[in-house]
Amino acid sequence: MEFIDLKSQYQHARAQIDQRIQTVLDHGQYIMGPEVAELEARLAEYTGARHCITVASGTEALIISLMALGIGPGDEVITTPFSFIATAEAIVLVGARPVFVDIDRSTCNIAPGLIEAAITTRTRAIMPVSLYGQPADMEEINAIARRYRLAVIEDAAQSFGATYQGRKSCNLSTIGCTSFFPSKPLGCYGDGGALFTSDDALAGAAREIRVHGQSRRYVHTRVGVGGRMDTLQCAVVLAKFDRFEWELAKRANAAARYNARLSGRIGLVGCNPNRCSVYAQYTVVIEERERVQAVLHAAGIPTAVHYPVPIHVQPAYAHLGSVDSCPVALEMAKKVMSLPFGPYMSAEDTEHVAATLLAATGVALPDAASCE
Ligand SMILES: *Cc1c(COP(=O)(O)O)cnc(C)c1O
Repeated sequence: MEFIDLKSQYQHARAQIDQRIQTVLDHGQYIMGPEVAELEARLAEYTGARHCITVASGTEALIISLMALGIGPGDEVITTPFSFIATAEAIVLVGARPVFVDIDRSTCNIAPGLIEAAITTRTRAIMPVSLYGQPADMEEINAIARRYRLAVIEDAAQSFGATYQGRKSCNLSTIGCTSFFPSKPLGCYGDGGALFTSDDALAGAAREIRVHGQSRRYVHTRVGVGGRMDTLQCAVVLAKFDRFEWELAKRANAAARYNARLSGRIGLVGCNPNRCSVYAQYTVVIEERERVQAVLHAAGIPTAVHYPVPIHVQPAYAHLGSVDSCPVALEMAKKVMSLPFGPYMSAEDTEHVAATLLAATGVALPDAASCE
């Protein structure tokens, strides 16, 4: 069993993917070819954001967003310590300081009620992460941001396709950033990412920063980066995008099957009302994680931990904030475990994983008769 089964996806979409790649090989415009603008138009339309700017990776999307907002030395950005390192890394790379705010125990997303106390005169932005594919509490976060005139950058690297109050992730705040890393819900075959905004000035700035701050050829009006997404990777995303809604429905099915088996028996990362997760990860909350992982591993079931060490206690980041400032993040880092998951996962496989997991955690399996 694969943790994320990209091979089955390729087998399903092979004709479209191969054809899209062949088209690029034939026209030969490997940098900023026609597929780049085509993908940007389709993704902007899908999210409802006015602008989509593809970039080299999700990390690059975060960095370019901060640069476009003019955030740098002396500035603070409020974020969550319970994320992939890139979230805080981008803030440090532009010279600003990440200020870590603890998470909500049920969703593992930043706790909006703790944000206001972390705001100082140096705060410029809030960077929530829509972890595991579920949008953060954007309404509460946006309301705080409006009161203090802060920008909100949604790290939507795991949540492309998710909805919040009927709107798409990536179009919920000043800027939304996503990643097309192969294992993300919408992935390419290498590195790729995009940022979304409906602010024309920010979009213009991001487009320039993506190409070395260039406003016209060899005219560099600002300092930028080499941050373009390859035409070939855009072609791969375009081919996969045609089946993305279908895959999201399959993801929802697989999650519902896990939920039906596990809910009420072991801890799950909660889903808030008014939003829908794309389950970049299907994550459970358990005690004795190492032992349970070993049992699953012995049964041929791969697992992963997102994330075992919160950012605020990582060696390179510990000096930035009090190491014991986010106790919930520290606790969840010891308990979360992600299960094999994906749109191509069979009912037999989700059943096998759920049964093995329940047995490993000592929860008695309901017999077939007691299952409605
Ligand atoms: C994957 C990920 C990123 C980074 O994306 P890359 O495309 O790998 O650079 C950033 N933030 C979160 C939450 C992620 O999961």
